[in-house]
This record gives sequence, C-alpha cells and structure tokens, in this order.
Amino acid sequence: MKNQILFTGGLVFDGRGELSEDVAVLIEDNHIVDVAAKTTFEGFGGEIVDTNGATLMPGLTDTHVHLCYKGGADPSAALAKVSPGDITLTVLENAQLSLRHGITSLRDCGGKEYLEFPVRDAINRGTFHGPTIHLSGRMICMTGGHGSRWGRIADGCDEVIKAVREQIHAGCDFVKVMATGGVMTPGVQPKDEHYTAGEMACAIREAHRFHKRTATHAQGTGGILNAVRGGITSVEHGVFVDETCIREMLEAGTYLVPTISALRNMVDNADKGVPSFMVEKARQVEQQQRDSLLEFYHAGGLLAMGTDAGTPFNLHGANAWELKFLVDYGISEKDALRAGCFAGADLMGLPEQGYIGKGAVADLLLVKGNPLQDITMVADYRNHLAVYKKGQLVQ
Ligand SMILES: [Zn+2]
Repeated sequence: MKNQILFTGGLVFDGRGELSEDVAVLIEDNHIVDVAAKTTFEGFGGEIVDTNGATLMPGLTDTHVHLCYKGGADPSAALAKVSPGDITLTVLENAQLSLRHGITSLRDCGGKEYLEFPVRDAINRGTFHGPTIHLSGRMICMTGGHGSRWGRIADGCDEVIKAVREQIHAGCDFVKVMATGGVMTPGVQPKDEHYTAGEMACAIREAHRFHKRTATHAQGTGGILNAVRGGITSVEHGVFVDETCIREMLEAGTYLVPTISALRNMVDNADKGVPSFMVEKARQVEQQQRDSLLEFYHAGGLLAMGTDAGTPFNLHGANAWELKFLVDYGISEKDALRAGCFAGADLMGLPEQGYIGKGAVADLLLVKGNPLQDITMVADYRNHLAVYKKGQLVQ
C-alpha cells in the first residue's frame, strides 16, 4: 500500500514566491502527488497533518557549506589536529544536523582529501539519513593562493585542467575554483585576482566538458569578471561586485551566493578567539559586501542562499539564519525564501526539489506562523515544527 500524507489547514509557500491560504498538499511515498484546494480532499481517509497556524514550505537548500569544518574559532587549525576517520564522522554529523534543522539539500564547497565522499554515498544508498549532498571535492587554487592549505594547488592551464579531472575522477558533483584572495587564508587579500582569466577559463571549460557545474570563491572585481567571462555557474561571496559584474552576471545568468553568515559571525564573535587576521579582513569588507549585494539584488540578479557553514561561529544546523541576515540587509522576505528554496535547488541542478508542486520530491519544512511576515519563523530552527526528507519525517 502506498504511504500517503495530506498536509492541510494552514498556509503553503511554494518555494518560488507564492503563498496560498486555501490549498492542501498530498504526498505519496517520496513525492508530492497533488496540490489542490483543501475542499478537493474532503473525506480523505489517510494520514492527515493539521498545519493550522503554520506554513508548509519546501525544505531549504544551503548552496555553500564546508561539512568537514566544525565552526570553531579557527576551523583550519582544528582540522589539522584530527584523524581522517574523525573528519568523516564530523561530515556525517554536520550533514544530519543540517537536515534536522530544515536543510534538505546542501552543496559542500571544499572538503579535505575526499573524506566527505563516503558520507554522501552512504546517504544516497540509504545507509544513513541525511540531506541531498553535492560535493566539489578539493577546491582548486594557485600556489600561495586562498584555500591553498587544503585545496588542490595547480598553476597554469595544463595543471588546472588536471586538477579538475582529479575531482571528476574522485566523483565530484561540481567543481570549485578560487578566483581571488579571501578572509580565512593568512597573507592573501580579498581584492586580489588569483587565477588569471586564462587559467579560470581552462578550469571551467574542463568541468563543463564533463557536465559539471562550477562555483568560484570570488571577492575582488577582477577575479569575479574572470570567472563570469569563463562561464562560471555561481560566484561565491562576491564582495566587490560592481556595475560591470552586475551587467555581465545578469546577461550570463550567473548566480550570486552572498554567504553573509561567514563575515557576520566572524565580526560578531571577534573577541572569542577568531584569528585576528581574519577579523581584520572581515571588518574591512563587510560594508562593501552589503552594498554590492543590494545593488545586485535591485538590478534583478539571481540569488541563492549559502552560508559558508563551518567557518568561525557559523554553525551547521543554524544555516537558516542566513535568511534573517538577507532580510536585515534589505532583501524582501519573499525573495530571501525563494533564494533558500527554488533558487538554491535550481543552482544545484535539482529540478524536482526546492518547490511545492505536483511531481516534486517531498522535501518539506513545516514552520510556525507566516515566514513572509516574520522571517524568524524559518530562520530560527526553534520555530520549525517538522522536517520531511523524501516523504519521511526526520527525527
Ligand atoms: Zn567557503
């Protein structure tokens, strides 16, 4: 017998931007099989979840996390001290914690020595419960560049192409390339271009040749443009997105993943042992990031939610708080929620996820109240009432 559940009584947010008062949602096993007026289901004899006073919405997608980092004051230093087995267990723990708090899909933008791969595979096999996980494998970076402590160092087109092939061989879902300096690596500057336009284009072309999407850590303007002109799928952070970047990103349909949580948590917890070089750089670029994000948003750019979870005090499980930051910075509740639902799944290439509609996977989040009026109903997991992954209630 098919396992059916009817969600009825409350509001439904469809993940794209529509809020409905009068519809109910029927799921059968893994999928949503009907979304229709509540009256359509009168006399339904199966399991009913009364959503009165609550909002049913798609599970959230976090398109930028680092599952191997725990979110302590200095995650890189902490990672250096633990065994490979411990790292794999941390990845599983962080993935499951994210799912319990409403993140039904996530994209890991840089791991360590492929130790996160067995976790994704075990979840896909059904050995463990967990979110849908896409992995980049090792981030690809230049000698001395941002991310060079854990990344795959490669210089020049030939080496960069080889580095991309290694990630594909290891089973990556997408490829991450470092276009500029950043905050968390000592001695590099966020504004500086790292890979040249030529190296960047080689990396992206090679990834696309094997049907892999691409993401780039890109903060400075020159590096962002190198990536966008090379055909990158998403720009991560995008601190110095300027008018030219905005125009070219809109033309190319490039996503921006702002990861406000990364900088905010470093700045807000500066006195708790975060290395001073990180705090200093985070403070320098914080306002700029805010201004760039708003300009990009008002120009109509594509935004997807990402947190950089695992970086200092940016905890796995608290991912949804990024939505509160987005709204505080001036993004509407509706657009923030779209970034966390439909847009995130779209960026990851998950056509059956991120929305509530017939045929979608039953990845669902039930929250108190109305998140379009109060974003903390989603952002603060204490307001979550239930999470379903592929139709199964997550404990
Ligand atoms: Zn990151």
